Amino acid sequence: MDHAPRHAAWDRRLLLASGALAVTASAWFFLVFALGAAIPALVSWLLMPCGAALAAGLCHRAGADPLLPGAARRFWRRMSLALAVLTATMVSHSYESVAAGVTTRVGLITGLLHAAFLLLLAWPLFGLPMAAGSRARRVTVGLDIGVIVAGAAIFCWHFVARHLFADTAAGDVSIVTSAGFLITGSIVVVGTAKVAVTGAGSLAGRSLTALGAALVAGGLGVALTPLLSDRPALDTTLLVVPVSGFLVALGAARRAGPRGAGPAARRQRHSPLLYLVAAATNALLIAVVVEDSADRIPVTVAAVILTALVVVRQLTALRENEHLLGRLDANFLELRHKEQRFRLLVQNSTDVVTITEPDGRIRYISPAVQRVLGLAPRPLVGTSIVHRVHPEDRATIAANVGHVISRPGNSATYQVRLAHADGTYRTLEIISVNLTDEPSVGGVVSNSRDVTETVQAHERLSYEATHDVLTGLANRALFAERLAASITPAGPGHRISIVLIDLDDFKTVNDTLGHAVGDGLLVAVAERMRAGIRPTDTIARLGGDEFAILFEGLGGAAVDRVLGRIAGALAVPVDIDGHLLAVRASFGVVDGRGGDDAGNLLRQADIAMYEAKERGEGGCQRYRPGTEARGAERSRLASALLAALTHDELVLHYQPVVTLPEGRLTGVEALVRWEHPTRGLLGPGEFIPGAEQTGLIVPLGRWVLRTACRQAAAWIAELGELAPGTMSVNASARQLREPGFAADVAAALTDSGLDPHRLTVEITESTAVGGGATQETLRALRTLGVRLSLDDFGTGASTLSLLANCPVDQIKLDRSFAPVPGPDLIAGAVLQLARAMGMEAVAEGVETPAQAAKLGALGYVRAQGFHFARPMPPEQLGTGIVTDGFSALAGSLAARP
Ligand code: C2E
Ligand code: CA
Ligand code: CA
Repeated sequence: MDHAPRHAAWDRRLLLASGALAVTASAWFFLVFALGAAIPALVSWLLMPCGAALAAGLCHRAGADPLLPGAARRFWRRMSLALAVLTATMVSHSYESVAAGVTTRVGLITGLLHAAFLLLLAWPLFGLPMAAGSRARRVTVGLDIGVIVAGAAIFCWHFVARHLFADTAAGDVSIVTSAGFLITGSIVVVGTAKVAVTGAGSLAGRSLTALGAALVAGGLGVALTPLLSDRPALDTTLLVVPVSGFLVALGAARRAGPRGAGPAARRQRHSPLLYLVAAATNALLIAVVVEDSADRIPVTVAAVILTALVVVRQLTALRENEHLLGRLDANFLELRHKEQRFRLLVQNSTDVVTITEPDGRIRYISPAVQRVLGLAPRPLVGTSIVHRVHPEDRATIAANVGHVISRPGNSATYQVRLAHADGTYRTLEIISVNLTDEPSVGGVVSNSRDVTETVQAHERLSYEATHDVLTGLANRALFAERLAASITPAGPGHRISIVLIDLDDFKTVNDTLGHAVGDGLLVAVAERMRAGIRPTDTIARLGGDEFAILFEGLGGAAVDRVLGRIAGALAVPVDIDGHLLAVRASFGVVDGRGGDDAGNLLRQADIAMYEAKERGEGGCQRYRPGTEARGAERSRLASALLAALTHDELVLHYQPVVTLPEGRLTGVEALVRWEHPTRGLLGPGEFIPGAEQTGLIVPLGRWVLRTACRQAAAWIAELGELAPGTMSVNASARQLREPGFAADVAAALTDSGLDPHRLTVEITESTAVGGGATQETLRALRTLGVRLSLDDFGTGASTLSLLANCPVDQIKLDRSFAPVPGPDLIAGAVLQLARAMGMEAVAEGVETPAQAAKLGALGYVRAQGFHFARPMPPEQLGTGIVTDGFSALAGSLAARP
């Protein structure tokens, strides 16, 4: 408070004045006492009322101190009132004494004022609140007061009252005044005894001491009265009032000192006092007996009563103590039960309870640590387990512990991994609370729960939800999530690349070698692709044999280089269950940037991937704007072709194969056409590639086979010897990889009743070098008795070893080698080769008589081409045969030079 220092300064000044006055008054008093009339006693009489006034003033100030509790202020106010009356008393006393010629004199007014002062003095003492307690306690307090009052009374009687009454007749003091003094004095003593016994909690201890000293000084001063009987100018009040007044002033000035001691100290205070009183009384008794004084009877009676009171008081206290001890025992027992209950709870809890010092050292750790971390609890005490924290979790624990220890009451919940004794890590969920300011704990309490299984289950679940179980790669959901995240924030400066990857021929592996090998191959492929990218890129398996890669901050040539490396890695044969398998894949790439639409990018990558597939196996294609149209066209064609198959819009035309040089019909090749409802008759070049890509070639090829076989059988049935000797059917690579192809051929033959030897299946060179499935199908076809023909011979990467390993019955020289005028090496060489290997050679695309003649001259005996006949509908061919017009026509053409 602002004026507190000023307050204190005034208190100090007043106190100083009071002290100086007390010293001066005492000195003067003793000078007068020692030197007698040589010193004017008047000074003492003038100083005395001033001492009372100063004390009253300081008490008044204490009574107005807002910092004191209400009870203390009340006490000081009453005290100042009593001292004001004392001042008046002393003024009156001085006046009467001085007026009587400076000789001590107590008139009626002074006597009454004195009595009023003592009564008023009792008021603050009685007014101090007494500590409440049990009935036994109140009885004890009553007895204590009784003992002190009895002790005081007997001393008072022996030293003062007895003489007062004895002097009454001779002195100026009336019996009334003396009685009044005694009564009021007794009341003050009782009040004092009460304060002494019960304490005064609301008063400062130092104030109480000073007040006690004032009372003692007052009492002692009064006791000195007999010494002054021969000094009429002096009165004990001349010494007592300034000294006691100073002590009271001191008490008032020290009002704000440390508050009175606690309840334990207050309980103790009366005991020594009690024994002191008893001892003093017994000492008085001895003195009285030795002196053989006149009042040894009342002193003896008083001493006996007092002793009896002390005994009763002690007995009561003893009983109370016993009672208290019993209650204490009960409380203690209950406490022990409580403590035991908590201990058992902590010790048997599955959670680890730890109390640590703020520096991290363990003070207590519950036995559960043995189960959770495999560590004995005892050796851990005094150590820290920070070194057991997983290195990645050190920052977490530092941040949380730092927060907790920064202030009492702080708490934190966090998860860290701690090393188990077996070397594994357990995940603990820890709740730490700072209880350093809690005296019963004085540390950081942590409750740690082992949540390893929960966390693992959670991780497993979220892993399974976002990963492909077989390969461990991200799944479609996670890929979409990463893609969305990669294009969301970064703006157009942030580049990304999406690559869609489709394995070529994977279905064949799955179908022919079994799913186990297929799965093994997928795992191997996933590993090789993952090895080829950075850890920051995302590779996902979208399903089946489809994969996707998301490159962040990478594009253009850099991505192409990565894909080149991946393609190279995939091409190296890998051993899966004893099968050496090499993989080729088609890559569709699209470059994107922040802000692009994820759906669009994926669609564009898909278009690029289809283009890559279309261009040939193992290709890589970057998306080019505008290619959507082709993709759309292709999908439209696919659905239209499917409709065509079911609506019988497909037809077969047959092109004759003739003998050279006669031009006699020896066989036909079935060539498919689409009678498109709006676009007219479409050649195979317009829809076969699309059918191959979409897989529709399989049902389409099945239809061609059945129709061709049925037609061949029909011709045989109809024309007998005149019917075409062989029926050639084209089969694409995709069909031959289909494991059911040989069975389809067998079924077509059985259903039509056609002799297998009359059916020739035409395959291209690239088909012939296809994987194991193709080879198996070819073998199965040969086993059926079906003839095989190598189409477009010379255009592919034919090798002699191919011919040796894939035995065919016929080779068809591609039309690009149909000889032009002049010597022709290739046509001749191919014929030589065919003859050497025991195969039939057919020359294709013969358009001119010159070509026919030359081929004939080279030694070719089979030919096909517009020169002889174009592909034609079956009824047309049939008519030609019947009328023999065709043969005639063919013959005439062949003969032409
Ligand atoms: P290909 O197997 O080489 O069939 C012969 C192609 O050459 C036919 O074309 C035929 O019309 C054409 N041609 C015949 N003689 C001559 C000639 O003197 N000069 C010229 N320039 N061309 C001649 P088309 O019918 O358009 O068939 C094209 C290709 O379509 C066929 O080539 C064959 O690979 C494929 N194809 C046709 N039908 C089928 C089928 O049913 N299934 C499968 N998988 N492919 C088929
Ligand atoms: Ca052909
Ligand atoms: Ca051909």
